[in-house]
Amino acid sequence: MSPHDADAEPAWAWDERRWRGAVEKVRAGRRLTPQRWKDGARVCVALSFDSDHETSTLREGSVSPGRLSQGQYGSRAAVPRILALLRRHGIRASFFVPGVVALLHPDEQRRVVDEGHELAMHGWIHEMTSQLTPVVERDLMHRAHETLAKIAGRPPVGVRVPSWDFSPTTLGLIRELGLLYDSSLMADDEPYELLEDGAPTGIVELPVEWIKDDAPYFGMNRASTLRPYTPPSAVLEIFKAEFDGAVAEGGLFLLTMHPHIIGHRSRIALLERLIEHMKAVGGVWFAAHEEVARYCRAADGGLR
Ligand SMILES: [Zn+2]
Repeated sequence: MSPHDADAEPAWAWDERRWRGAVEKVRAGRRLTPQRWKDGARVCVALSFDSDHETSTLREGSVSPGRLSQGQYGSRAAVPRILALLRRHGIRASFFVPGVVALLHPDEQRRVVDEGHELAMHGWIHEMTSQLTPVVERDLMHRAHETLAKIAGRPPVGVRVPSWDFSPTTLGLIRELGLLYDSSLMADDEPYELLEDGAPTGIVELPVEWIKDDAPYFGMNRASTLRPYTPPSAVLEIFKAEFDGAVAEGGLFLLTMHPHIIGHRSRIALLERLIEHMKAVGGVWFAAHEEVARYCRAADGGLR
């Protein structure tokens, strides 16, 4: 049970006000796909890397050097490989970074920014947001915001809630911090405006989905039966099909990846094949999430 569940009353006993209120709390409003993408592109591609690094271990209260080393791989081996790939293809991407990761690896974040990429929020220590009280969630959001602002030299404008675990109070905090966009929710393939209790907020949602994420295909846990059952070639096939669908609809293809997962030699190769496929199709606008959100807002006269 999360601190947001007021009591243990079973859902079948809730009155209409309660179940309707829960659904209306954070909802998708107008679609914000522009009439045309920048420079007449027929599809927009937003690549993101969630630099969880050591926090995927720390967040569980674990101090296992073995597990922490897997996080260090993300920073030490994977991020340089990813930056080289993006440089080679002239692509600007977004890096979502927990506050603690930014403090552990400040030079990496400065390099990400220096190479023209976006640095955006990803919680404090990759905590599960819905397990926090509103007071703690607010404190961690503000701390993460300040930490990134200090390291990047400018405040972040976007957030991806760790594990996409958006709480009923998260949107209020996004508004309080004056952020431009969120990228944690799943109501569409296309950008949309977030509604809070039925009212427009002006916040742009750049939606995610597990199908467009490397983690579900390559997840590995020694102590459970979780294994990377899907070969990179099959993951490439799925990502290509999602991209081709976005081209057909003139929409957005947003892909979430993690350095410690996609940065391995056999998998960075699949990302390069995917980028080559996109370039061969042509008419692609590769943009950081911030640029996409700004473009959609500017194209939509009513959203200011
Ligand atoms: Zn993450």
